Amino acid sequence: MNKEQIKQIKNEYKDKSPQEILKFAISEFGDHLKIASSLGVEDQVITQMATQINASVKVFVLDTGRLHQETYDVLDQTRQAYSVNYEVYFPKAESVESLLQEKGPNSFYQSIENRKECCGIRKIEPLKRALSTAKAWVTGLRQSQSVTRAALPIIEWDEAHGLVKVNPLATWSEEDVWAYVKEHNVPTNRLHKQGFPSIGCSPCTRAIKEGEDVRAGRWWWESLDQKECGLHSK
Ligand code: SF4
Repeated sequence: MNKEQIKQIKNEYKDKSPQEILKFAISEFGDHLKIASSLGVEDQVITQMATQINASVKVFVLDTGRLHQETYDVLDQTRQAYSVNYEVYFPKAESVESLLQEKGPNSFYQSIENRKECCGIRKIEPLKRALSTAKAWVTGLRQSQSVTRAALPIIEWDEAHGLVKVNPLATWSEEDVWAYVKEHNVPTNRLHKQGFPSIGCSPCTRAIKEGEDVRAGRWWWESLDQKECGLHSK
């Protein structure tokens, strides 16, 4: 799919539902489509919708080795609820071993450079492996999640990874997401109910206070416009 075709699809599907966008992506890319799941609420909605359309759709998880137990629990529940055969990508053992040996287990708190190094080893390299055979990937990103995602389109060319990126929930609000969860009884991470709207690795995620930005709990020691780990450029 070239950039002109992406532009046409973006216009054609701009007012369509996430299910219609997913149906298009699944039929267009088939086995070359991969759904990225962080096991957060948006990705749980996407996983439920996609498995209803095609039970054998490919869903992958990046297990950074630093996730919360609650996240592993929701992985288990979703495997059972929708018979999802997740592809799980783990960081390269030798890279993690060197990082821990050279800088210790908590280097990410010391500088943005160190934090990006850890995300590079535990997330970015595994993501590259996960996407190496894909022609398109699906995310649960939404425009209202952060200042860096305000202009997020439903479909775009992902320059960094060299493939099409589909964001079916781009225009959904947080309320839309939770209404869908309730209606369809979608399993969700219990940390969401404890003040974690956005859940990443355990040492880099905290609960937020009322009125705080939804991404304020991710890498809370950094400023809002720096809070991306390289998985997404926006
Ligand atoms: S979120 Fe934190 S622990 Fe997870 S990969 Fe990034 S720096 Fe490392």
